Amino acid sequence: MRRDRGPHQGEHRRHERRQRRRAAGARRVLRGPGRAHAQVPGRHQGPRRRHRELRPPAGHQARLHAPGPLPPAGRAHRPVQGAGVEGGDPQPGRSGASHDRARPRLGDGARRQGQHRRRLVRRHLRRLPPLPLPRRPHGPAAHGRPAPPVLPAEGGHQHPAGRRALRRDPRRAGRRCPRRVRRRVLPHPHAPPGGAEVMTAFLGLPARRRTVILLYPKVDHEKDYLYFWMPFSLLSVAKPLIDDGIADVVLFDGNQNDARAWERLLDERLDDAVCIGVSVMTGGGQIAHALDLVGRAKSRPNCPPVVFGGPHVNVLAEQTAEHELVDAVLVGPGQRSMPEFVRALLGGQRLEEVAGLIMRRPDGPLRGPDNPPRTGVMGKYPWHLLNIADYIRDDPTVAPRTLNYISSQGCVYKCQFCYELTYQRKYSAMAAHDIVEDVLELQRAHGMSGVKFYDADWFVNLKRAAAFCDEIIERGIDLAWAASINPNDIRKARRSGLDILTKIAASGGSRLLMGVESGSDRVLRDVVRKEIDREGILDVAADIADHGILGSYTFIIGFPGETTAEQDETYDLMERLRELTPTPETRVHLFAPYPGTPLYAESLRQGFEPPSSLEGWARYDYYESQTPWTSAAMVERARSGTRMKTRPAASGSCP
Ligand code: SF4
Repeated sequence: MRRDRGPHQGEHRRHERRQRRRAAGARRVLRGPGRAHAQVPGRHQGPRRRHRELRPPAGHQARLHAPGPLPPAGRAHRPVQGAGVEGGDPQPGRSGASHDRARPRLGDGARRQGQHRRRLVRRHLRRLPPLPLPRRPHGPAAHGRPAPPVLPAEGGHQHPAGRRALRRDPRRAGRRCPRRVRRRVLPHPHAPPGGAEVMTAFLGLPARRRTVILLYPKVDHEKDYLYFWMPFSLLSVAKPLIDDGIADVVLFDGNQNDARAWERLLDERLDDAVCIGVSVMTGGGQIAHALDLVGRAKSRPNCPPVVFGGPHVNVLAEQTAEHELVDAVLVGPGQRSMPEFVRALLGGQRLEEVAGLIMRRPDGPLRGPDNPPRTGVMGKYPWHLLNIADYIRDDPTVAPRTLNYISSQGCVYKCQFCYELTYQRKYSAMAAHDIVEDVLELQRAHGMSGVKFYDADWFVNLKRAAAFCDEIIERGIDLAWAASINPNDIRKARRSGLDILTKIAASGGSRLLMGVESGSDRVLRDVVRKEIDREGILDVAADIADHGILGSYTFIIGFPGETTAEQDETYDLMERLRELTPTPETRVHLFAPYPGTPLYAESLRQGFEPPSSLEGWARYDYYESQTPWTSAAMVERARSGTRMKTRPAASGSCP
């Protein structure tokens, strides 16, 4: 029965062939008693020299390495025919290579000679250093499944076989490993020359550290929001680090773990960490939590460099880089800049070449080249970094076992308050088939029954959306799902003759989240630039309800220059929407100027005073009034306008 070939089987076969060839070369050299020892080179001569001497000399005029007469013409390709070997002469008409392969008949004496030669060959091979084993690449791309983290050991990465041996017999911990295991202690592929003597580019830490700690600090809006976020930004950053074998990654999610868990992780992994990468967005208390956790790490003497990235850094990079707890910031997509930064810390490239890097230095900030916003095609996330079961929730609008998911980055619309505008990410997305396969795998592994897409706008690519729905329908996959949509996506689909709402409903789509922002045509047109008016929104919302899909509509109150009458129009639109069946959800946010957006500049003109430090932004809470024109009464009214399904589906009620 033919066995399936593993991904590295070919490498190991090549390795075995190389060893066989080497043994054959040694046998050729050792043929003929009395010459064998003279022709076996010593270790001191080095592998190149040995290799050269074990090869048969080229050309009939070449001399053997041991002193002696030139061989007769026509036999020079063969070192010496051994004494007592009968029929060992080359047969006429055959090439030299064929002669080498011709098997002589052996008498009793020759058999003893052969045994002697084999002993010599074995002894010779024992003295040779082993050929390097093929390197086992890390990461899911190499294995087709998540790779277990490879723990670095003194002198290089230790093969898992070594760890298994030590687990079986812990008394071996202080002893030398058995030879089979010792041979597999490999240097890291990116280890700089000089090994442990080489220090990282700054902070004077040994370059042997091989783990990147990624930190996603807690977001405070979790407390009143049915919002069970996974740290997708850091999963995206971790992917190239693992796939390219640059470093092992541990991911700490502050939404799932408290400060004590962070301290435990520091106890276990800080000695091995090459850096700590932190992702922060503005608001939600995330910066405050980040500074708290980073402060705990920095209080330890073995803390590696701390690098900040994420939405807040993209708009206020200089201010973030000035903070005493921040060693460097990375502006732009971390998928490109973080691997470069880690390589630079390990000595594999210059810090000046790290895209998007800004770093404090005594002689002025160090800046890397621009980090372009395009992130490339998205791939499968390294799910093994998280405990997926922690993120499955009973979502009343989707399914009892729902997992959230991001399948694209960027947005093509230009809403003037939105951080996507400042980030300027070019749209990139997973293919529809890849999403289905990944979701199915998660479904099989974790028994989830629903998926909630948190993409900025899941329907930017309508063909991709339609292909996803078609595949779910054709394969009969039992899955409930929800996604975000811009009202203009539905109008675009109509114009192109694509009945996207029917496909959504038929494939299990149960909820569409849509940012409406305002009920005032002036605000929609001149302030937000939503590219749709009030009547257009009502028309699209009615269409969604007609297909039996739950609409979830979000609004913003307190835009700069917005009048009370315009706010009344917004609340009136909410009432009109609530007349639909199924009754939509509504959520009202308070306007909070986001740095870098057009409405941030307008807010400054109208008297908004922004925080002047990272600590100041740490207190920036977009659930509270942040602008001088937002009164307490406006805040209270906004809260009463929020009607969300927050209870589990089992209760069946909508508050
Ligand atoms: S559609 Fe949504 S994600 Fe896109 S710019 Fe507007 S608010 Fe931002």
